[in-house]
Amino acid sequence: MSQIEMVISDFGGVLTTPLFEAFASVQDRVGIPPKTFGEALRNLADEEGDNPLFQLERGEITEKHFQTQLADGLEPLVGHRPVIEDFGLLLFEALDPNPGMIDLIREVRRDGFRTALLTNNVKEWEATWRSMMPIDEMFETVVDSAFVGCRKPDPRIYQLTLERVGLEPDQCIFIDDMEINVDAANELGIHGVHFRETAQARAEVHALLT
Ligand SMILES: [Mg+2]
Repeated sequence: MSQIEMVISDFGGVLTTPLFEAFASVQDRVGIPPKTFGEALRNLADEEGDNPLFQLERGEITEKHFQTQLADGLEPLVGHRPVIEDFGLLLFEALDPNPGMIDLIREVRRDGFRTALLTNNVKEWEATWRSMMPIDEMFETVVDSAFVGCRKPDPRIYQLTLERVGLEPDQCIFIDDMEINVDAANELGIHGVHFRETAQARAEVHALLT
């Protein structure tokens, strides 16, 4: 008999269509070659000692500050200063809800399990991502990296989530499309499910709950 009481889910790439596809489409729209965003961020991380995207996701810098840094990083790579002010907007235009995983959340709630959302996100994007699906209906708790000053895969954000819901690690499932985030959850004793595609993730969650 399973002791599991709660399903904790990631947002981007699990409850939505794949993020890498959305990023690729944004790069295409703003005329930046594939992988160049990543390269710019890695260069900035080497120079500054921290990845600006991670700082943004921990709410340490504003979206505006991030855009300036990213433009600084992209400029030498693309040979001109790119306009990336609409980056967030374009990203969400390229992202759609994933009905199969949204249904999974509804199904497990109907079966009496509790649900929480644990997302690495951006403060300024909160209204936009929340408008994609009825978040407060789907989840009793939302832990957003930008508001708690800590991001996955830092163990502290998983511990904070467990404290908030009052559960032990082995009472929870955690679903994420990034393996590094799933590994961190597994290390704490949470039942990690690495989302690769909807049918596989749904099957793994159902198997754990049976
Ligand atoms: Mg994700």
